Amino acid sequence: MASPERRRLSILGSTGSIGINTLGVIAHLGGRDAFEIAALTGNGNIGLLADQARRFGADLAVTADPRRYGELKEALAGTGIAVAAGNSGLIEAAERDADWVMAAIVGTAGLMPTLAAARRGADIALANKECLVSAGDLFVDAVREGGGRLIPVDSEHNAIFQVLEERQRAAVERIVLTASGGPFRTYPLERMRDVTVETARAHPNWSMGLKISIDSASMFNKALEMIEAHHLFRVAPEQIEVVVHPQSVIHSMVGYRDGSVLAQLGSPDMRTAIGYALAYPDRPALPVARLDFARLARLDFEAPDEVRFPALRLARLAMARGGVQGAVLNGAKETALDAFIAGRAGFLAMAEIVEEVMERLGHLKGAAGLDDIVEADAEARRMAAGLLG
Ligand code: NDP
Repeated sequence: MASPERRRLSILGSTGSIGINTLGVIAHLGGRDAFEIAALTGNGNIGLLADQARRFGADLAVTADPRRYGELKEALAGTGIAVAAGNSGLIEAAERDADWVMAAIVGTAGLMPTLAAARRGADIALANKECLVSAGDLFVDAVREGGGRLIPVDSEHNAIFQVLEERQRAAVERIVLTASGGPFRTYPLERMRDVTVETARAHPNWSMGLKISIDSASMFNKALEMIEAHHLFRVAPEQIEVVVHPQSVIHSMVGYRDGSVLAQLGSPDMRTAIGYALAYPDRPALPVARLDFARLARLDFEAPDEVRFPALRLARLAMARGGVQGAVLNGAKETALDAFIAGRAGFLAMAEIVEEVMERLGHLKGAAGLDDIVEADAEARRMAAGLLG
């Protein structure tokens, strides 16, 4: 039985960048005195997962990789912490009786467990944007039907969530997503052709996991965020703007019909968004750097270049087509990204492959039921893999 005064939480993807920051915030806000951890999940980093499970007294630890089950079991022997593995283990973790679940698995692998948590009515702190990109309305409906809250953790969407006044929804004119522009913001196209994983992962402002860092460099991250905002805030694609803001101080903005623009500002530190999602509607005290405006001196803005960063155009195409096209874009993108990381595709080839797959699968509309989404994702991955040779 959960003790009445301690909140019960689970973290899907606790060994990643968001997961580690989430446990850091939990430790700062009282750790085991204030929170019970129902379940933690990871994939390959068994040592860290076992350490986290011991330190926070988790009831269940799960590795997504069934081959690592024995290793995790051994690492937690004698602790009384239950151990599971594979997709069924991830679902078991999601279905544990936590009333707040951080969804921080990377990629489409996070969809099914996050859906399971949403369906049973947990509040979902959503870092895994792929849930909304691939499954859009279906995912939002699952949260609504489950009865929990959906609180975005992506810094841009968390910013919008903070400044979008629900009472004033009819007065919202536009959502402005800010983008740092990534490490190649000023690179000419020719120079972008030969960039390496090491340069692509070096985000100028944020410290994040490998895949999202590279997605930021190609602006596929912003493309995913446009689709995420479309579903999350129920705004039309033409109401979503992207502006490059290299300092990453304004995390995003909402423009209203009276000309007002409300923005959320802060240091580029994910703990602010995580803490907000954890304590909502309160604001906990957090040890993040405070903005020093005199030192900051200036904030710059520029229009994104859709020739060098075609991902933004592809996001608009996916939104215009609707149905399963978000799943098509994301499935092709994940396959192309894995190939870039493995050295089997160049940096610019990622967008070329996604565009080609979207061209060939443009006829797939589908009602975007779960089976349609899973099929479209698989078809896009097969086709992208075929193009990669
Ligand atoms: P990381 O790569 O740092 O961590 C990913 C987590 O998912 C790890 O726990 C990893 O386990 C686990 N994992 C990897 N593969 C699988 C799989 N096949 N099945 C189940 N679990 C798996 O990612 P981030 O923390 O950077 O990002 C997580 C999500 O949050 C992404 O969707 C990202 O787009 C989003 N996000 C991240 C931000 C950031 O600042 N990092 C900001 C905004 C959104 P292990 O490490 O043990 O292998």
